[in-house]
Parts: sequence; C-alpha cells; structure tokens
Amino acid sequence: MILIMNPDIDPKGPEIQQVLDHVKNYPGIKARVHSVAGTTRTLTEVYLIGPTQTIDPEGIAGLPGVERVVRVSERYRVIGRHKGQMEAVGFEYNGLTFNQESFHIFAGLCAVDTREHVEEVMRVLQAHGLSTCRMGAYKPRTSPYDFQGHGRKCLPYVFELAGRYGIKVIAMEVTREDHVDDIRSCLEEAGNPTGVMIQVGTRNAQNFELLKVLGQQQEFPVLVKRGMGITLEESLNACEYVASAGNRKVVFCLRGVKTHLGEPHRNLVDFAHVPVIKRLTRMPVCIDPSHSVGRKDISPDGLMDILHATAQGVIAGANMILVDFHPAPEMALCDGPQALLLEEMETFLKDSKIVREAYEKRRALMRQSAAPSIEAV
Ligand code: PEP
Ligand code: MN
Repeated sequence: MILIMNPDIDPKGPEIQQVLDHVKNYPGIKARVHSVAGTTRTLTEVYLIGPTQTIDPEGIAGLPGVERVVRVSERYRVIGRHKGQMEAVGFEYNGLTFNQESFHIFAGLCAVDTREHVEEVMRVLQAHGLSTCRMGAYKPRTSPYDFQGHGRKCLPYVFELAGRYGIKVIAMEVTREDHVDDIRSCLEEAGNPTGVMIQVGTRNAQNFELLKVLGQQQEFPVLVKRGMGITLEESLNACEYVASAGNRKVVFCLRGVKTHLGEPHRNLVDFAHVPVIKRLTRMPVCIDPSHSVGRKDISPDGLMDILHATAQGVIAGANMILVDFHPAPEMALCDGPQALLLEEMETFLKDSKIVREAYEKRRALMRQSAAPSIEAV
C-alpha cells in the first residue's frame, strides 16, 4: 500500500510522524518514507509493506496530509505505476531533470581509448550545446581477448575534461561494486567537476548483488539496460531491485533484443516498448539505437538505420538517447562499426529535434481530443 502525501509536505514533519504512529497499531507492517524533490513540487510517499489487507484504507486516508491511498499490485512495487498513480516519478541530478517528460541526449564513446578522443568528443558536444555524454571505462566483453576498457586509469582525465567542457552527467557502465568506489573517489579527487549516471549493461541485468549495491547508494542515478535473453518483466525487475534497495533514481534503457530475427541489425529494435514501459512504470525511458542497430547502413531515403531507429524511439516518447560517436571509428577499440562520426552529430541532433517536436505535437493533439486516462496495471 502506498500513501501519497499532499504536495510539499515535510518528509520529517508531524503529518508523516502521525502516519508512522498510526501504522504501529498494525502488527507486521513496515513503513518506508520516499521523498523526491521535483521542479514544481516535492512528492512524498509512504510505502507500507507487510499484511496491508488488515489496514482500513479509509481510516488511514483520513489522516492529515494524506492525499490518496493506493493499493499496489505485487509487481514493481516501487517503480510501478499503480492504480491511481498518475504522476511519473523523476529526479534531479547535477542540475538536470530526468522524468517521463524530459529529453536528453547522451552521445559519446562506447569505450574510452585515448585522452585525445575523449577531448575531441567533448569539445564537439559543447559546441552543440550538449551537457550529457557516454564514456565507457569498464567494458564487459564477450571474448576475454577483447579490449576490457581502461578502467580506473582513464577516470581522472575523463572527469577533468568533462569539467572543462561543461559536461554535467556521464553515463558509465560498471560491472562490479568497486567500480562505483573508483568513480566516487576519482570524482572527489578531481573536485566533482561532473556527475555520473551508473550504467548496468544488458549482461548484468540479473546480477542481483550488483543491483542491490547500486540501490543501496543514493549518490548516483542508475541506467538499467534491458537484459539479454530475458523477458521485459525480468528486466523491469532489475530496476525494482535498485529502487527497492533505496535508490529511486532509475532510468530504464531499451537496447534491442538478441535474436537472429533482427538481422541484419545487431539486435531486434524494440522501441515500440517505450510507451509500454511508461505505462507499466513511472521511470524515464532511454533508447540506445547504436547497440540495437549495430551498423551504419543507409537506406535509399538517405537516412541511416541508426537515425531511423532513433526516430522510432523518440516519436514514441523516449526521454533519453544513448548513442555512440567516435572521432575515428576505424581506430575504436570497441564497437567502431556502429559509431557515428563527429561530423554527423549536427544532422543527428537536428533530426532528433524534428522528431521530438513531432512527438510533442502528437501529445498536444491528444490533449485537445478526449484525454485517455491511464488504467493501472
Ligand atoms: C554499452 O552501452 O556500452 C553496452 C555494452 O551496451 P549493452 O550492455 O546494451 O550491450
Ligand atoms: Mn558498445
């Protein structure tokens, strides 16, 4: 059961205390207070866990400060959009807002190779007014003989350059708990010039111990990629692991599904699931067209498949794009064939903007006609 409190209620104030005292009357019920500060209001919710069927919903709904009582289904207790929960839950990080309305483009290197390449990418991002990027330091690779990423070694210059070029958030994959410690300590040593969104790769979507660790820290938001060869429900449970451990700054990323049915693309593009995720959960949704398509073929209309796939996700309401760029893809140590050139960035951004505007127009059109209400799961 979730109690949605009135806007701007103090999470440590008397109303919350009264709710907690009330709950003590019911044996076996644990209460957890979650508060998310948004741009327009602070959303505070009290989660009641245990045999909540014993609780009289009307009694608790009558307590001061309680706006609504929501009975949650078993699935996705924290990240889910339960009956009556219309608000998406987003978060602020390093001056940027992430929710089901926001739109950010995280462009950059799949894997950091040289300081020069990091700098070239960041310089171009800044020139285009972007303050978010992707930089892979730890690379989980299928073959043990492939480049595994520079790891901790590259973090000092990646963070220093991010500070110099106004990058506020870097999406960076980790595969082990101590990678988070490396990131934290290197950020501190550099004077926290930027922020990091910790990425959980498709291969780690069921690394439950890693997910719990990422949930126990609240400093870094977490970008969870759809798992490989598992169901959508299993992938969303990866997010639930992070959120239920205490970190609700979670973004879900569609990156295609592994099957030969997607050929010639690297994976079968699954961006039709953007609205599905938004309906099932309250998380922002990211798309990764680079790892979905995996190659730079151009269709007869002159547009690359990667741009077409991006447009399919953005027109469906994606809130974030994770996309590979490289100044010299032939020199890339990982995923060169799918990396866009820095010269292609302007067109990519313009094209994404056209599609985002089209999505906004479609939303406005729906608002003018009878607005369909979201029925809960
Ligand atoms: C990546 O984004 O660098 C990556 C390895 O992606 P995925 O985990 O989706 O394969
Ligand atoms: Mn990659």
